[in-house]
Amino acid sequence: MTSTLLIVLDARARKRVVAALEAGGSSVARLREAAIALLREELSWLMAAYPDGEVRANAGEQTPPGDGAGVVVVALAAASRGALDPPGDAGDGRRLRAALERRGALADGEVDGVAVSLSPPMDREAALERWPDLVVLDPKTVANRQFCEFCGAPFAADRTTCPSCAAPAAG
Ligand SMILES: [Zn+2]
Repeated sequence: MTSTLLIVLDARARKRVVAALEAGGSSVARLREAAIALLREELSWLMAAYPDGEVRANAGEQTPPGDGAGVVVVALAAASRGALDPPGDAGDGRRLRAALERRGALADGEVDGVAVSLSPPMDREAALERWPDLVVLDPKTVANRQFCEFCGAPFAADRTTCPSCAAPAAG
């Protein structure tokens, strides 16, 4: 069976994950590295989906984002004998964390084929249109964070300024 994990991140995270996602190496090692890089980006997680079968994030026509920085979509597809993902609600960030940890710890012979792909920056609405399975993550299940009132970037709740635009945090 092939299972795909789709993750939507704030587009500002793209430059931090692109190196891990585009790195070469054996395919399982590449999947592990991508999963570990994505685990470090929890502050940027926005949506997730668990479609059956192989899904790629970089196929189809590209729609550059309008206002704001938009989102990027990452697809981690893996062919394995058993299911890779725990059951549960796609909007639960704890499920996403467990799914990434599972991929980050895969043994070399455990999957038969992988496909790691990353979309260009795009509008959130365009991502939802192309991948209608996507579910917005419940904020209570993701790292404690806030969104900048000026540029929209997500960042840790205890910061007093936005790391993207240096605007003061609200409250
Ligand atoms: Zn900002």
